[in-house]
Amino acid sequence: MRGLRPVIPLCLSLILILSIGSSRSKSFLHHDMEPQRQMQITTERVSCIGCILIVSVVEQLVQVHNTSAEKAMALLCTYLPEQGGIRGTCILIAEIFGPDLIMLLNNRLNPDVICHAVRLCNIKPNQPICHLYKKPVMGLKRTIKQAEKMVKMSDYVQNLDVVSGVLFKFCSYPLFKMICEAFQSSVPAEDYDQDNFSAFPSFRGYHWRGRDCNDIDKSVYPGRSPEDWDALHDSNCNGIWGFDPEDGIPYEKKLCEGTDAKGIIILGDSAAAHFHIPPEWITPMNMSKESFSNMALAISNELDWPQFSMYTGFQNSTIGGWTQSLYLRIRDWNLCNHRDYQNIAKNGGAYDNLQKYMQSLARNQQLDKPVVVFYGLIGNDVCNPYADTLNHMTTPETLKTNVMMELKYLDAHIPSGSHVVLMSLADGRFLWDTLHDRYHPIGELNKDVTYAQFYQFLSCLTSNPCEGWMNINETLRNLTTERAEQLSSVLQEIAASEKFNNFKINYFENLYQKVTAKWASLGGKPWDLLEPVDGFHPSQISSAVGADLIWEEVIQRWPGIFGKQNPFNQEIIAKFGDQGGH
Ligand code: CA
Repeated sequence: MRGLRPVIPLCLSLILILSIGSSRSKSFLHHDMEPQRQMQITTERVSCIGCILIVSVVEQLVQVHNTSAEKAMALLCTYLPEQGGIRGTCILIAEIFGPDLIMLLNNRLNPDVICHAVRLCNIKPNQPICHLYKKPVMGLKRTIKQAEKMVKMSDYVQNLDVVSGVLFKFCSYPLFKMICEAFQSSVPAEDYDQDNFSAFPSFRGYHWRGRDCNDIDKSVYPGRSPEDWDALHDSNCNGIWGFDPEDGIPYEKKLCEGTDAKGIIILGDSAAAHFHIPPEWITPMNMSKESFSNMALAISNELDWPQFSMYTGFQNSTIGGWTQSLYLRIRDWNLCNHRDYQNIAKNGGAYDNLQKYMQSLARNQQLDKPVVVFYGLIGNDVCNPYADTLNHMTTPETLKTNVMMELKYLDAHIPSGSHVVLMSLADGRFLWDTLHDRYHPIGELNKDVTYAQFYQFLSCLTSNPCEGWMNINETLRNLTTERAEQLSSVLQEIAASEKFNNFKINYFENLYQKVTAKWASLGGKPWDLLEPVDGFHPSQISSAVGADLIWEEVIQRWPGIFGKQNPFNQEIIAKFGDQGGH
């Protein structure tokens, strides 16, 4: 039975944010590094980013509610959900670090200074001191030294142990195990070989692939060709079954035969899975219990929201904007496609790790309907957190080898008559150009943290999800785009020259340039298209606009990819209503 599992405390989830969401998880740490050393590096980053975010929130709560630091800290804990011990952990952390934090906050020191003084951020010899806010007037190092004198708990090793202990505890829960592993290294393939459909929403359930309508019978699942035209039961979960008593003909045969019904599958990254950290989690202005009510669900979905996403979204968005998706479009086009979607996207997904998790794609070549598979890996092959980022980007040669290997795997696993669409990489210069001088949500209240500061802070901690694009250095940003374009050219060439047995292949380019132009033509602002908290991912609006753009262009350029428009749609609605919902 899959019940509600324990969830990570605020600080840890906020942290994991910034990194796993977007970047190539495997790049975060070297594979050959000892596990103990890996854990220490993870803990150092987690404790520093987590501390600075939390102290910032507490400091701003003091300001917003005109209250004491002690009360603000207690208030924050009461906002957090009780599920999975989140609130309890908050109270525990407040008890351990609270007295020092409160004293330092009362001395009007900024979060950078406070977190260094309590040694949750580390100063390394001959390395710059990482800071999110502007340096204090009398200098960062000197201010930290003064603050340290006020602190009782000044033992770095001991404090790191406390954080490490909390991390260790949470990483041992099944849910967090997955997140922690993703944070430290590549997720092993066996974690993703679950090819079963589910009647449970999160934990890779029906938020990710069409809801199972019979959890007991393994031969029943969305996407299969109907068994005996579903005269007796709904073998493909599209809500269409039974037979017309007047002529004895099954409805599946009457309403779906010859319509070239197809499913949608997305193989992709965090953008395709729709990574999103709710800004209300770090914006004290209107913070309440309500702000965190979606926290447990978000975490059990790896901080992704596939149910609202560009490729497979099906629920009305509760995170701003609206939902539009290729799945909704292909479903409206032919209602026989109801529930036939699979989101096989993963935070950190790139062409060089896709083959590990694409094995969870569930399609039977003999029994199931053809599919349209999108490859949506828009940046992780050029995005990594290293200072020498260029040396860690995928090369065109490696990309070609990997993509061909993945396409051959696909050819051996998807039914004949399918289609594959390779999406080009994005041009991430849009990130810096759009955001660098705007305020990050954490700096909104006091106008003191811009995205430029935020990106540099992450870089300093080797936690910037895209060092190449989220960078003040214009030459580097241009070089990153240059490499992205080289990689896109490889995809284009493969689509133009390679042939496969079971699918045709096409190449779709510059999606996000098209989204930006479309949104501008509607009077929208460019920053509406980016996730406010991470300053990296496409937003809900971007996804919805993108879905319509892809649909329109594909229908026009490659007619037939999505099958035929079903002339019986109205009859299906009249007879089967919402087809059992999603
Ligand atoms: Ca059916």
